[in-house]
Amino acid sequence: MSHDAILLTPGPLTTTLRTKLAMLRDWGSWDVEFNQVTARVRRSLLQIIHGEDSHAVVPLQGSGTFSIEAAVTTLVPQNGHILVLDNGAYCKRAAKISTMMGRRCTLMPFADHEAVSPSALQQQLAADSSITHVVLIHCETGAGVLNPLQAVADVCAAFKKGLIVDAMSSFAAIEIDARKTHFDALIAASGKCLEGVAGMGFVFIRKAVLDGCAGQSQSLAMDLYDQHAYMEKTGQWRFTPPTHVVVALAEAIAQFEEAGGQPARLARYTSNCQTLIAGMKALGFKPFLEPSVQAPIIVTFLAPAHPNYEFRRFYDAAKARGFIMYPGKLTQVETFRVGCIGAIGPVEMAQAVHAVALALNDLGVASGEPG
Ligand SMILES: *Cc1c(COP(=O)(O)O)cnc(C)c1O
Repeated sequence: MSHDAILLTPGPLTTTLRTKLAMLRDWGSWDVEFNQVTARVRRSLLQIIHGEDSHAVVPLQGSGTFSIEAAVTTLVPQNGHILVLDNGAYCKRAAKISTMMGRRCTLMPFADHEAVSPSALQQQLAADSSITHVVLIHCETGAGVLNPLQAVADVCAAFKKGLIVDAMSSFAAIEIDARKTHFDALIAASGKCLEGVAGMGFVFIRKAVLDGCAGQSQSLAMDLYDQHAYMEKTGQWRFTPPTHVVVALAEAIAQFEEAGGQPARLARYTSNCQTLIAGMKALGFKPFLEPSVQAPIIVTFLAPAHPNYEFRRFYDAAKARGFIMYPGKLTQVETFRVGCIGAIGPVEMAQAVHAVALALNDLGVASGEPG
């Protein structure tokens, strides 16, 4: 193939040539020029959520999960009690992190095809006063459900509980406004809807709780309080920064701003999602979710019922046409996922649907109709 395959995945994503080219230079971590890039990225990130007054943003090396772990260990006291609103795989991961960090953790289960319920949360908080923090996954990338951030934040604020939001796959695409939505921490990463490359996460921490976080983390590398204090003092990262990732993110953010910011990104992803779902339905496929809970980020489709269908072969046949899909992440039903995010538009989504049609044909599967 003469060009890279298009990644229809929840990250890493397809990036623009401009973003890739930004990585063709070596930077010294000490150098003032590089520190200016870091400062600019941090300012831009805060602007995206209108958090300049209320929040600090702390970048951290590693994939998004590293930043979730860092947020838990930095923000939650070691005798704290975390309630995870669980409607999917990323929720379970957040709970596992909490438990491994030695925090008491309770899972509140919801169906994986439904949004979590703010009224159920309200009842749980009323019944159990030992809960100190609530963890919400904004877009549960496991199935693609959009959870009700504002309503959950309102309940947490009413009960004066700390809210930690994993907004990894929603940040920069779905509106998040720190002036309206109360949260203690919100986590996202470079390689998702900002369309940078993977390799760093960042955590918005409410300034009012930041001082209280000193000395709380039992991990040195994951201590966001220290990372923040050092960065404020020196302008530098505490340990070796992922320099190429940071400059690529700065370039990706510049393009994000030029294109019209979050509303424009949401419009493009929504259009991608609509093109995908309409095209796949025409091939007989059925989305796993109802439109009312479907985020325009990633779509889960039920596997075709036809006996010739096999995900691995289907994947290979689509890949041969230049499109990389993603396996399903549900335990009860067989599914596969197609992402709508990255530096792609409806034209690429229509081509992806065409590739799926050809892949079905290769496998001798007459229709995407599930059982
Ligand atoms: C991508 C993602 C993460 C982080 O996953 P990594 O593989 O560590 O980058 C966490 N939560 C959600 C909801 C995600 O979509």
